[in-house]
Amino acid sequence: MLNLEELDILYTQEEIAQTVARLGAKITRDYEGKELLVIGILKGAFVFMADLIRVINLPLSVDFMEVSSYGDSTISSGEVRIMKDLQHSIEGKHVLVVEDIVDTGVTLHYITEILKKRGPKSVKICCLLDKPSRRNSPIVSDYVGYEIPDYFVVGYGLDYAEKHRNYPAICVLKPSVYER
Ligand code: 5GP
Repeated sequence: MLNLEELDILYTQEEIAQTVARLGAKITRDYEGKELLVIGILKGAFVFMADLIRVINLPLSVDFMEVSSYGDSTISSGEVRIMKDLQHSIEGKHVLVVEDIVDTGVTLHYITEILKKRGPKSVKICCLLDKPSRRNSPIVSDYVGYEIPDYFVVGYGLDYAEKHRNYPAICVLKPSVYER
């Protein structure tokens, strides 16, 4: 059983679906006639990406990268490591990087710098959640679902210590949980 006393709902499943549809419609318009490769950043983006690609009305391919994240903490170490690289070349492709949340921007800055060196036609970013107040790397997302304050959120693919990814809403994890 999920312990709902630890969570406050920020966005419901229905609200998320509307936001994802808005992003998909915009991406569909922007990439009309282009060869689109959608790259998901594991693990957090897998739920968002699964929904997003189904509302992009274009032929596209997908690939995944996994980078080291916060471990079991809520504070970034500032160190990024590639745990799993892409399977295919991105040369000549229009790349859309899909991320669950941009916080300091360190992760996406690192990833996009690596990708740009591999000869893509373009690299853009789509994130579901953005915490602009926390930014310390020069990252601006091209498509943003929601801008949020400095909350620690879980659900819809996002975890705390590998838990809560399966919760369909986006929730704020009460600080009492991780400050214990
Ligand atoms: P950044 O490098 O931008 O500081 O951090 C990006 C990564 O940190 C995200 O992909 C995500 O894995 C993790 N992260 C940042 N903020 C949150 C949050 O509020 N909740 C969860 N679950 N992960 C977060």
